[in-house]
Amino acid sequence: MTLFDLSDRVAMVTGGNGGIGLGIARGLASAGASVAVVGRNPEKTTAAAQFLSDAHQVAAQAVVGDVARAADVDRIVGEVSRRFGRIDILFNNAGINIRRPPHEMTLEQWQQVIETNLTSAFLLSKAVYPFMKKAGGGKIVNIGSMTSIFGAGFAPAYATSKGGIVQLTKSLALAWANDNIQVNAILPGWFDTELTQQARQEVPELYNRVVARIPLGRWATPDDIAGTAVWLASRASDYVTGIAVPVDGGYTAAL
Ligand code: NDP
Repeated sequence: MTLFDLSDRVAMVTGGNGGIGLGIARGLASAGASVAVVGRNPEKTTAAAQFLSDAHQVAAQAVVGDVARAADVDRIVGEVSRRFGRIDILFNNAGINIRRPPHEMTLEQWQQVIETNLTSAFLLSKAVYPFMKKAGGGKIVNIGSMTSIFGAGFAPAYATSKGGIVQLTKSLALAWANDNIQVNAILPGWFDTELTQQARQEVPELYNRVVARIPLGRWATPDDIAGTAVWLASRASDYVTGIAVPVDGGYTAAL
């Protein structure tokens, strides 16, 4: 178990107040990490931090902020470092989707998605870098998507941001390898969360179409991300950097 033990570690999870982010935060907390949960909604964020400390007996902090704003990013990282004195693990998970074909998408919508899903990961990684360097190492995990691999005519900004996440992951991994900071990505398949509930309302046949396409035969729940999250946050992955791991029930393995 010591390979996966995070009890001396401090982790930040953006978008950790629900969906996949809360699944990640629960996994890290169950391995013993102190967790800072970042989100825009104060009630949801406070409730998630309370839940983590009650359920897993770890120190948990709610940090309210918008990761798409550069000024908020610096404040968020400042709050976490003041509370815990260190930041060992960063999950860039916060994300949104705007489902519009390219010819109907406005510049503002494009920028909103790119800034939330991609630019925030760059800014947050840059902001935590001094703490990881000072500590002699760290772990950054970026959340991509199946659209890191496939295109999406119905969501061009989203797919572009998620493709960019993989290249950002590789670039940070190379830049910071000498600092013993491992940077990897997880590419989730179809998870049942608020994000996809919205898609399922817009496309009623989506649920069954996806089940038919997944070799493991079911949608994922947020708990399905926890094992891979703990692996990539722990000493168990110390020789792994610059990769993108699908957690998709076999979706990308199938034709
Ligand atoms: P949810 O909509 O359930 O959760 C999104 C989270 O991100 C919320 O906690 C939200 O909190 C937070 N968030 C969004 N924008 C911001 C912002 N500007 N600043 C701070 N926090 C923000 O989505 P999922 O859990 O489904 O998605 C999580 C990640 O996984 C995303 O990156 C998504 O693209 C990716 N993903 C999801 C898949 C799925 O099937 N669900 C598949 C592949 C990838 P708040 O509203 O409080 O800000």
